[in-house]
Amino acid sequence: MGLVKMSALFERAGKLGVGCGSFSVYSMEAAMGAVRAAEELNTPVILQLAEARFKTAPLELMGPLMMSAARNAKVDIAVHLDHGNSLAVIEQALKMGFTSVMYDGSSKPFEENIKNTLIVKQMAKAYGADVEAELGLVGRSEGGEMDYGIFCTDPDNAMEFARRTEVEALAIAIGNQHGNYPVAPRLRFDILRDIHAKIPDLPLVLHGGSGISDEDFKKCIREGICKINIATAIVNEMIKEAENYLKKEASPDYYGLNRQMAEGACRTVRHHIEVFNMK
Ligand SMILES: [Zn+2]
Repeated sequence: MGLVKMSALFERAGKLGVGCGSFSVYSMEAAMGAVRAAEELNTPVILQLAEARFKTAPLELMGPLMMSAARNAKVDIAVHLDHGNSLAVIEQALKMGFTSVMYDGSSKPFEENIKNTLIVKQMAKAYGADVEAELGLVGRSEGGEMDYGIFCTDPDNAMEFARRTEVEALAIAIGNQHGNYPVAPRLRFDILRDIHAKIPDLPLVLHGGSGISDEDFKKCIREGICKINIATAIVNEMIKEAENYLKKEASPDYYGLNRQMAEGACRTVRHHIEVFNMK
């Protein structure tokens, strides 16, 4: 129990035919809530932090907190850098002991994405860590400031990318996007099926999980998605909990507020773990 590599959790998920939840935690309350949910359901999870969020959740503070949460957990937990853009940040996360890092070169040309991913692969190897890369454009950037549009991953490109980079996980674009969806997404299961058929052994990652229906999550897992990222749904629920608490309490206190926010994170993570592990 405690800190593990992402690939160990993929192995488990593959054997059981279930999905693996990767939950973004941008505060202590979120991390506490996520770990509690994983422990209550006795199910391993990934805790992740995206570079785009460092302004309010700095790596040098959140990183050690996440590492400590994982090491002390009663279940297996992997600690992951989500959407690393710069090599310096990726190196910093690896030095802290993160067991995996994502390099997101999806907005770059194919060859440049491969070249940079190979550099990150080399860096991670020195720390015994796993690497996730991305191919195709998931709608809206992780921080929400950029929207390149959605550009679904080409299955043949995915196969070539996997062969040349040997990454441990590949994020693909099948109509998914980050943040809140303006309308319910129509996922391209045909593309997912094609990609999975071409690279059946490579764990595929679905970003932008908030707002995808439980039925679609289950279908994604059946069709080859292994890791599912959840960020927005957690913060949305934490805000809702905070609002309810402040409305309902005659004399709200800070510690009560913290507790409620952790409860909001816990409830959201618990729900997603249940859906991802259901068949
Ligand atoms: Zn993402």
